[in-house]
Amino acid sequence: MIIDSHYHYMTAMSEKGAAEMVQLIYHEAKKMGMNPDYETLLKTAAQTWGDPLADRLIDKMDEAGIDVTIAMNVDNSNFPLVTPEKIQRQNRMLGEAVLRHPGRIIGLAGIDPRRPEAAEMARVCFEEYGLRGIKYHPDHGFDPAGPESYKVLEILARHKGVLLTHTGPLMPKGRCKFAEPLMLADIAVDFPEIKVIAAHLGGYINWRPWASLAAFQANMHGDLAVWDTLAYKNYDLFCRQLREVIDLVGPAKILFGSDAPVQTLLYPIKTMLQFIRDLPQKAPASIHFTVEEVNLILGGNAKAIFGLADASS
Ligand SMILES: [Zn+2]
Repeated sequence: MIIDSHYHYMTAMSEKGAAEMVQLIYHEAKKMGMNPDYETLLKTAAQTWGDPLADRLIDKMDEAGIDVTIAMNVDNSNFPLVTPEKIQRQNRMLGEAVLRHPGRIIGLAGIDPRRPEAAEMARVCFEEYGLRGIKYHPDHGFDPAGPESYKVLEILARHKGVLLTHTGPLMPKGRCKFAEPLMLADIAVDFPEIKVIAAHLGGYINWRPWASLAAFQANMHGDLAVWDTLAYKNYDLFCRQLREVIDLVGPAKILFGSDAPVQTLLYPIKTMLQFIRDLPQKAPASIHFTVEEVNLILGGNAKAIFGLADASS
């Protein structure tokens, strides 16, 4: 079973709205030695990211051979235009997209815990919209283990939901200190029942703090979103780091994630999957990966975390 654990669902997208994320990806592309045209990236984003019924997502999944996608909304209470009503509408629409494509999509609500109504929003997302977890972006400026967040995590714990939360440095305006993996440490103490997926494993440069936590906390997992940037740029280093991560924390902690449709502005998910599939054959001679490890990363681990039934593959 192939599972993409990190997909950004969007109901609509304008060039203005896409600009911030396109800037991030443009920055990544430059680091990778690519030279994409910024305006073309922006146009593609505006034309293809909005996918309210998730029909385009399903087409892309079928094309890439992905069985299940974990799709998420992102809330940011710093933006006056993103009202609680607006983000709840997006969360509701994500729930509807999940129902429209049975068995293919798992939805995570976007909720900024700084909103006074955040806990009630979470309750509605679980009980009425059928969402299975919450996506956080603490780099927007909040403590993921602070008192406001805890009110939301209480609801999450009650519904046996999954917390997928951004970790790792970003360009300004990202308030990176809140996205440090160690900011999540208390969640395992106060909510041992919550399964946490730290997006990006803290980042392909900053993964050690995540690994230091994951080695001690049973429910700490991470996804490989954006690690394909490193794989593209320096496959040997990607292999070396991933081998080190697995040796230190075990293969059961790591999930494949694409960060589509943002990261896929540069190349298709198939390319990202191939970086992982190629590990047993194409890693440098002194570094060994097994097919079992690859299968866990590409879907086995996410299947266990979300309690999915067996599929044929
Ligand atoms: Zn993301």
